[in-house]
Amino acid sequence: MKKTLTRTICIKLDVAGHETTLAATGRAFNAAASWIAAVCWEEGITNPNTAHHRVYGETRASFGLGAQLAVCARAKAVEAIMSVKAKHRETCPQFGMRGSIRYDARTYRLMSLDRVSLNTLDRRVVCRLLLGARQHAMLVDPAWKIGGADLVWRRGVYYLHITQSREAPDEHPAEDVLGIDLGIVNLATDSEGETFSGAQVKQARARYHTRRQRLQKVNTKNAKRRLRKNAGRERRFQKDVNHCISKALVKKAAVSCKALALEDLSGIRERGTVRHEHRYERHSWAFFQLRQFLSYKAAWAGVPVLLVDPRNTSRTCSACGHCEKANRRSQAEFLCQRCGFAANADFNAAVNISRKERAAVNRPMAATPAGLAASPRL
Ligand SMILES: [Zn+2]
Repeated sequence: MKKTLTRTICIKLDVAGHETTLAATGRAFNAAASWIAAVCWEEGITNPNTAHHRVYGETRASFGLGAQLAVCARAKAVEAIMSVKAKHRETCPQFGMRGSIRYDARTYRLMSLDRVSLNTLDRRVVCRLLLGARQHAMLVDPAWKIGGADLVWRRGVYYLHITQSREAPDEHPAEDVLGIDLGIVNLATDSEGETFSGAQVKQARARYHTRRQRLQKVNTKNAKRRLRKNAGRERRFQKDVNHCISKALVKKAAVSCKALALEDLSGIRERGTVRHEHRYERHSWAFFQLRQFLSYKAAWAGVPVLLVDPRNTSRTCSACGHCEKANRRSQAEFLCQRCGFAANADFNAAVNISRKERAAVNRPMAATPAGLAASPRL
């Protein structure tokens, strides 16, 4: 079966004059979704059809939602329950009054390119999409099919998150493998010796850190606002760096007909096989974001991604195969205790990762971020 790729376009909305209607719809919609979730949770319902028959009539009668919005509220509630269950959590999902409104093909309609019509409690309202050039290009790209959307309210501004999907292109046949070692000092090092340094990111982080500490001491409203802004900036900066690195690596693999090989980190928390010195950082969101970007950009470009067993990649000599802890002299330095091969430690690891015989026996990476939550926001 072919993989499906999804992506989300976040577009700012001009809702001029419809704030009250949309806010009222949001309150009713989320109250309904919370009630549906509670019922399904209580009665152990996870099947959308069963849920529909159980809650549909009451949803319409008690919350004043139209037929289509009632269906969307049920969809949101059941989806949230499934996601909570997948994470083995024990609390029934509930939604705030300012939670998002789910729209499907029947409850919203893109009219002209910059107009969208949205279902509300009593009528349809038309809002204007404030599109940038890039968002516009994404929206009209015929390769991507437009799906549902979420209306999101954030600090007084409405955004429409439109989901698009397409079939993944066929993976090109790989003639060779480009190994990639992901780390903290060097964010990524490939088996051809190219390094994407984390120095720049580190510097920026330090800067943000001092600013944060300074602002945290000043406990005023203004300082709090600036703290929030600051946090957003740091995240965006890191995200941008991750986009650039993953783009460059995928392009490199695509033009040279190579597959990408990464360490398989599924279940690292249980196994504890990660290189010790990186254990903390490997759990950080930025590190996983880079992996995620690599995997979906590779899927978009038809570049196969192979996952290799992470054990011993950092302590095995890529020249003679000798494996010993002492080979890894420091974070940066590799020196083989048997043959004397010396190299940058990340490069040595990347070469190990690239070895076809290691990669070939392993399963391919699940390249498609499943569901909305994991799909890239653009
Ligand atoms: Zn050696």
